[in-house]
Amino acid sequence: GYAMGKLNFDNSYARLPESWYQRTEPKPLKGAHLASFNPSVARWLDIDPCTAVPEEVVRFFNGEASLPGAEPLAMKYTGHQFGFYNPDLGDGRGLLLGEVVNSSGARFDLHVKGAGRTAFSRFGDGRAVLRSSVREYLAGEAMAGLGIPTTRALCLIASEQFTQRNGMEPCALLVRVTPCHIRFGHFEYFYYTRQHDELKRLADYCIKRYYPECLEEENPYYSFYLKVQERTARLVALWQSYGFVHGVLNTDNMSILGETFDYGPFTFMDRYEPDHVANKNDDQGRYAFKRQPEIVLWNMSALAQSLVPLVPQDKLEHALTQFMGTFRRYDLERMRSRLGLLREESGDAALVESLRSIAADHRLDLNRFLYVLADLPSDVEIAATIGTCALPEALEGWMGEYRLRLAREAASAPIRAAQMRSVNPRYILRNYMAEEAIREAHAGNYDLLNSLLPLLRNPSSLNESLDRYAGAPPDWAEAICLTCSS
Ligand code: AMP
Ligand code: MG
Ligand code: MG
Repeated sequence: GYAMGKLNFDNSYARLPESWYQRTEPKPLKGAHLASFNPSVARWLDIDPCTAVPEEVVRFFNGEASLPGAEPLAMKYTGHQFGFYNPDLGDGRGLLLGEVVNSSGARFDLHVKGAGRTAFSRFGDGRAVLRSSVREYLAGEAMAGLGIPTTRALCLIASEQFTQRNGMEPCALLVRVTPCHIRFGHFEYFYYTRQHDELKRLADYCIKRYYPECLEEENPYYSFYLKVQERTARLVALWQSYGFVHGVLNTDNMSILGETFDYGPFTFMDRYEPDHVANKNDDQGRYAFKRQPEIVLWNMSALAQSLVPLVPQDKLEHALTQFMGTFRRYDLERMRSRLGLLREESGDAALVESLRSIAADHRLDLNRFLYVLADLPSDVEIAATIGTCALPEALEGWMGEYRLRLAREAASAPIRAAQMRSVNPRYILRNYMAEEAIREAHAGNYDLLNSLLPLLRNPSSLNESLDRYAGAPPDWAEAICLTCSS
């Protein structure tokens, strides 16, 4: 392992034209201290978590000393926010420090979120508050634990500096780590400013770095688009399978690597509600849970539009017609797996849909229901899990159909149960869990945050001391209100 000062940087993005970004130094926060350090992500970077010195981590990421090899910059991008094009976006409070290449040759972007004002801050203060940083940090581990592509974080740095959000709130820094900080909005920037040479250069950069297999294809740009679409369709299918609402599906929050990117007012629904809107500021419900697949398709069409100078338009249009089919295929694949259906039968999609419609009618906690289903519970046991005295009639009927369907499976019950457990988490990141961790963090205590991280990373393993989180959420959970403010 290396010390923090010996990270192996190779900053390919910083070698791209200067007009793509603005070099900017991070502005230190007052009273910065390490709240949490993520050993799993540290290992990606060849940092030995046992030898990392907290004061050193803070000094480098808080910009008190310059991190050797880093070349901090704010990326320029644009994008569609709530359906409207905004030409003035870019990293307004985050900085790409550089790219670390580890001993296996894997390359990771290091990005500090909350590092102060940049050329793209507009009216913002360039800061991130502790509340939203804790949520993003937990979300990355929770997604990773569910096998859903995501950005993650190396560490969370808290501070004694305050800023105005929901009242005065403490600022924090999150060090985000992922191979990719390129958003659909990067392509939209060059397309809408008619810089087609730069657009081509960006596509070449993305292909070389993320999709080198496209170089073998007849039209590498078209092949690149198809791959982004495939990964993105899979991503939204996984969100729908676990009741995840992103909350702010603007095109500047869409990664070209198909990872969940930019956690704001996201929610894993405690109860299955297709109309659920996670973001209180989204009055039109544009980003409601049930609309995510069509919205993501809309975002794909925004990316496709930006690629028109590089790819024949009819090809892009044809690709877009395939999106929903790809989404449905991945969605059914994961739902089959969650239900323990290892064979494929033509009636499976209908079985899944009828479960969802029952879950919606009765506002069931679908994640808990699917978790207990592995043990083939009795109707009474199911009723206890979903918090009713008797099983709703529709669900009783569905259970009958499900049992008949299971009878046609070849796998033995223990094998099926084991496979179901691997995709049905005992613990899921509920809003109230994040709220509890935030409440403690506001009091300077990061213990709960630090114990939730491994719990979420291994969501199917029993965690004795925190097993209360496997149960139903408390009553106050329903009143939690999330906004864009972060
Ligand atoms: P988001 O809604 O998080 O996707 O952010 C949209 C845009 O606003 C991005 O360009 C951000 O960099 C910028 N932004 C968000 N919060 C702040 C802030 N506190 N200061 C400056 N820019 C911000
Ligand atoms: Mg964003
Ligand atoms: Mg954001």
